[in-house]
Amino acid sequence: MKIAVIGAGWAGLSAAVYLQRSGHQPVVFEAARTLGGRARSVQSPPLNATVDNGQHILLGAYTETWALMHELQIPLESRLQRLRLNLQAADGSFHLEAASLPAPLHLLGGILGARGLNVPERVRFITLMRSLRARGWIVPASATVGDWLRTARQSDQVVRRFWRPLCLATLNTPIEQACAQLLANVLRDSLGGARDACDILLPRVRLSELWPAQAAAKIDLRYGRAVRRLNRLSAHVEVEAERFDAALIATNAPSAWRLLKHDAPSPADKAYLAQLAALRYNAIATITLELEHTWKLPAPMLMLYDYPEKCQFGQWLFDASLFMKSPADRRRPMLTVVISDAQALTMHAQETIVAGLLEQIREQTQGLAALPPIRGHATIIEKRATFAATPGLVRPKNTTPWPRVWLAGDYTDTGYPAVLEGAVRSGKRAAELITGYFS
Ligand SMILES: Cc1cc2nc3c(=O)[nH]c(=O)nc-3n(C[C@H](O)[C@H](O)[C@H](O)COP(=O)(O)OP(=O)(O)OC[C@H]3O[C@@H](n4cnc5c(N)ncnc54)[C@H](O)[C@@H]3O)c2cc1C
Repeated sequence: MKIAVIGAGWAGLSAAVYLQRSGHQPVVFEAARTLGGRARSVQSPPLNATVDNGQHILLGAYTETWALMHELQIPLESRLQRLRLNLQAADGSFHLEAASLPAPLHLLGGILGARGLNVPERVRFITLMRSLRARGWIVPASATVGDWLRTARQSDQVVRRFWRPLCLATLNTPIEQACAQLLANVLRDSLGGARDACDILLPRVRLSELWPAQAAAKIDLRYGRAVRRLNRLSAHVEVEAERFDAALIATNAPSAWRLLKHDAPSPADKAYLAQLAALRYNAIATITLELEHTWKLPAPMLMLYDYPEKCQFGQWLFDASLFMKSPADRRRPMLTVVISDAQALTMHAQETIVAGLLEQIREQTQGLAALPPIRGHATIIEKRATFAATPGLVRPKNTTPWPRVWLAGDYTDTGYPAVLEGAVRSGKRAAELITGYFS
């Protein structure tokens, strides 16, 4: 079957790979001139370099992503730097590292050996993880992460040092609004899984090169083709005046809504459109700082404590020279600072943000060598980085009320927050549903 796939993000490309493997003929339409959607490489004029639109962290638990890379015969270790779970504050006040023990002792050992937790905090942390596991990783459906942590008597300090950064990094939603069940799902598959499930994997190549470029090489992919209209005929779907047996919309939710809104006569259509329209979005900001010379950090990834009132917004600090593969990347020392739930940044001038960040980094790395002078910087704010992962959200299924039209994307009902693994799973699931429909 000839299938139109609209969108070459991780969901669309994953679907295209699996559709092709099942003997179909996918044709991918991508509005942009680059691959990867929200996980893409971009040219940065201020740095005169190719950078990613945002530092992405992958987890050992991203099983479908690893299966897809395996399918494409891409050796994981050549493209990603694998690190044992190591959450370390830049100021040295907190350090939790998974122990070299089989699961679940790796986590227990990590908590017992963590710096920055007192004895009652360790006990409550372990009790929380044990009770979560005993309850099958199910938490009250309407609970926010904040509610759930209060019920589990987690101290303000543990919330500040561990839970808040973890929640922001995984759900991109503040703890008082974030859905506890979605966080529990991620904990189930990472901290609650096999020892390597909570490993952190950092791309050693630019995001578009991680696997999307290999996938695209094998697929009929049309760049710079924003699909404006989808026409459903009796036994076909027309995309950009071309006939297809089916269409898979793998855009973001607002684009999917725009493509479907003209054709919604039934209550089921309207209800589905309402789910797409109900999603709200949070921003992620990534600030790249080019240094005059190398600065040796104790780990490729360090936690920063943010003080928005002082214009100190940084949450994570990455030293790309410690994990990027290409000699050119290693020669140009760059730090990347990541800020989740970053809407507030849009109200400040870039220079103010960078000045605040530099002060923050200097204050919180006093135990290290002095931060070298900055040669240049670039800020990317993705305003619609992810949907706000709040409790009670009804997420659209891959199957739509429209015959011959399916949907894929990180916002569909994957059981995960808006993450790469969710996008890959959603694409694969949609490909399976399409294959099942035609078999
Ligand atoms: C800054 C940032 C940091 C992130 N960090 C992490 C992280 O550390 N770990 C993690 O797992 N996830 C992270 N994420 C989330 C992750 O990037 C997304 O979950 C994932 O990329 C979503 O993929 P997708 O295919 O569902 O959607 P998208 O990537 O949005 O792909 C949709 C594609 O459709 C195209 N399109 C839209 N409309 C049309 C149209 N009409 N016609 C043709 N094409 C169209 C778009 O151009 C785009 O290429 C981050 C996201 C951002 C923005």
